[in-house]
Amino acid sequence: MKKIVILGASGSIGVQTLDVIAQHSDKLVCLGISVGQNIDWLKKHLIHHSYKLVVVKNQKDRDELSQLFPLQEFDYGDNGLLKLAILDEADTVVNALVGFAGLVPTLKAIEKGKDIALANKETLVVAGKLVMDTVKQYKVNLRPIDSEHSAILQALQGNSLDEVSRIIVTASGGSFRDKTREELKNVSVKDALRHPNWSMGQKITIDSATLVNKAFEVIEAHWLFNLPYEKIEVVIHKESIIHSMVEYFDGSIMAQLGSPDMRVPIQYALCGPSRLPLSGQRLNFNILSQLNFKPLDESFYPCFPMIIKAAQKGGNQMVIVNAANEAAVQLFLNEKIRFLQIEEIIKECLESIPYKEIMSIEEMVQLDHAIKQSVLNRYKETV
Ligand code: NDP
Ligand code: MG
Repeated sequence: MKKIVILGASGSIGVQTLDVIAQHSDKLVCLGISVGQNIDWLKKHLIHHSYKLVVVKNQKDRDELSQLFPLQEFDYGDNGLLKLAILDEADTVVNALVGFAGLVPTLKAIEKGKDIALANKETLVVAGKLVMDTVKQYKVNLRPIDSEHSAILQALQGNSLDEVSRIIVTASGGSFRDKTREELKNVSVKDALRHPNWSMGQKITIDSATLVNKAFEVIEAHWLFNLPYEKIEVVIHKESIIHSMVEYFDGSIMAQLGSPDMRVPIQYALCGPSRLPLSGQRLNFNILSQLNFKPLDESFYPCFPMIIKAAQKGGNQMVIVNAANEAAVQLFLNEKIRFLQIEEIIKECLESIPYKEIMSIEEMVQLDHAIKQSVLNRYKETV
């Protein structure tokens, strides 16, 4: 029996993880969950479920919930999250938090010997080397939930990484892939949140529209599979049917295909390489008449080359990019800035904050906080 805790259970990945666990209750059990502020979801969920520990973001929510569910143990805040990440009885942590907030819980869980099923790609984006070194040191498994990386992991089965000539990460192109740069000037939040293929949380949906998400996925692949950036390519594939591919020295390409359904990579991260049954839509090749591919147009998606360049520079660059992006996406979702200002804010932060080589985790946390505060304050009064 795999004993799991889920960080971010009320989100898109969290809820689908609970569904996968429910479909395999003979093999998987969930011992604890965290949510942020979606207390309505939690109240309904706890009518039918109980856990060793439930963590929420705010103390006042913890107090109210403790009254409502007196037999359930609750905790709150960052300390509560860390307590859940290192829960004694659990062996696996599903990290489905959004953003930098996922980093420290991932590291603490690894240091306690927990296996990690990682949706929170920002963990690897900001501190890939530190996280992968810690994984090696504590001899745990860290498996990706991101569909592209799950596809790569699956396409690597039975083969050697040493014989890989390149990996090809597919990208849908996001909500605005059929627009011109001119049209992007005035797109709305509602338009941006309408992803053509996937139903996901708000932040990653915006990141898909700017292609920040795809740059982050290249960085994630670099750290997960220990491959140089030169061997990682991106191709626009609008159907999101091929989730990514691996090409070997002999020219053979292994691809993983399937209907867009995050429960497949979630289950693979928890149970792979076993292939357990899973309900869901199957591909029908009689209906699926074509698969399209086109090169990535970097002039349409300037965030992509800017972020890959920053990642290759290393040091504090990805903490800067990630913090600037998180703050900018929040401002865009709150209608304080326009869509194209997201890329401007990332660029400004990269240009104005000095490069620094080595960063401890404490320095990363401080820098992340300072950048977010400064960006948010700058646009606070904008309407
Ligand atoms: P959602 O926004 O849907 O869910 C995020 C979860 O984390 C919610 O439970 C939320 O709580 C909680 N949360 C957010 N911020 C905090 C915080 N500061 N402290 C405590 N809890 C917090 O996101 P997704 O599920 O879409 O994405 C999760 C991660 O997975 C991201 O890193 C994303 O890039 C990655 N990912 C997602 C995919 C998808 O299909 N959704 C696909 C591939 C990767 P609440 O809502 O209760 O406030
Ligand atoms: Mg992905």
